[in-house]
Amino acid sequence: MIAFTGHGIDRADHIRSDSAKLAELRGGGAGLVLQLDGLSPVYGEDNTLQFAPLEADSDAELVFLGLRGEVPLYVAVPSVGDTRPAYEQRAQWALLGLLPPAELALYGGARSLADWHARHRFCAKCGALTVLAKGGWQRDCPACNAQHFPRTDPVAIMLVEHDGDLLLGRSARFPARSYSALAGFVEPGESVEEAVAREVFEEAGVRAHSVRYVASQPWPFPSQLMLGCHALADARELVIDYTELEDARWFTRAEVADALANGPDAASFLAPPRYAIAHSLLEWWMEKTP
Ligand SMILES: [Zn+2]
Repeated sequence: MIAFTGHGIDRADHIRSDSAKLAELRGGGAGLVLQLDGLSPVYGEDNTLQFAPLEADSDAELVFLGLRGEVPLYVAVPSVGDTRPAYEQRAQWALLGLLPPAELALYGGARSLADWHARHRFCAKCGALTVLAKGGWQRDCPACNAQHFPRTDPVAIMLVEHDGDLLLGRSARFPARSYSALAGFVEPGESVEEAVAREVFEEAGVRAHSVRYVASQPWPFPSQLMLGCHALADARELVIDYTELEDARWFTRAEVADALANGPDAASFLAPPRYAIAHSLLEWWMEKTP
């Protein structure tokens, strides 16, 4: 299972646009609100998410996450969103691995939404204050009637293969000895396949082809959709862009196997953590190429 997927609750889209039903659920006394500290989860004793009963007279800005059985789940929009760069959050990401997979997925989606609301209170078209709409899956501008929708930003992340070896790279911000799949945002006017080829050439100077999609992962820091791909390289010579990467090199199948099997004790390199799709892609590759 890929981390941050499979929360298993009913998103209940038909309720989002039914304001009477939303009000009935909100006042019905059965609702539960996901407990966050800023945007981080509040962990219970058994490392599960914590919920508090929704108070009927609450005037909090709430996002309706969906139904768990008959129980409506919500998350409150915090006063401020997340402004920290991603690399400052690695310690927090490691803690998230403690959550059961379904809860991690629920938290991830809730975090992305709550953060988006907190950072998009003003209309991008006219600058007026916007209001939460459609149960929190939209914001509307009362001044110009513009509708704004939660962002999902596509990122291509790719395993590039040549003659049975894999190209992996590391940023200077990675933990020591850690290598991972190259990645980059898909740009406007570009297919995923084109983004893969462009990023691999920009970062490592390698021409890639035969791009195929493997799997995807929502990544809630803040709202990426990681599109995991595999591609073949024309040649092995690397021209590394040192403004993007500290290093990139080819790894043998045995080195990847060592990294996945031995974690921090691996002699070859430190594999990406289990909650990252790069880890899942490496596992997929090992199964694919016996
Ligand atoms: Zn507006």
